[in-house]
Amino acid sequence: MAEETIFSKIIRREIPSEIVYQDDLVTAFRDISPKAPSHIVIVPNILIPTVNDVTAEHEAALGRMFTAAAKIAEREGIAENGFRLIVNCNRHGGQEVYHLHMHLLGGRPLGPLVAF
Ligand code: 5GP
Repeated sequence: MAEETIFSKIIRREIPSEIVYQDDLVTAFRDISPKAPSHIVIVPNILIPTVNDVTAEHEAALGRMFTAAAKIAEREGIAENGFRLIVNCNRHGGQEVYHLHMHLLGGRPLGPLVAF
């Protein structure tokens, strides 16, 4: 059994966060340490620790993360100019919280994909 992270508590609204979207499969909330004017974290409601743990059973939730991203980008007013979606995996990917999540970043030009 994977260990819960702070994100499970956010999903269950047990700790404060600014939730911008929630449905039966996913939850989205503002990142506590934003790296862009809009920085939203989108998570599946069930705990999947990393992309390495993804199976076919998760496809509905993972697909919904993209549907939610498109809706949120529209609401944030960043859809037309554009934005970036990032999913980090494990140490080399820079993953800090082991509950799979997608970063939605926008509101300014984001520069090159990877800094060297
Ligand atoms: P990772 O590096 O794992 O891809 O990203 C984790 C993200 O979660 C970071 O951008 C971090 O700022 C954010 N984060 C960590 N703890 C909390 C929290 O308690 N509340 C919110 N809203 N964001 C968090």
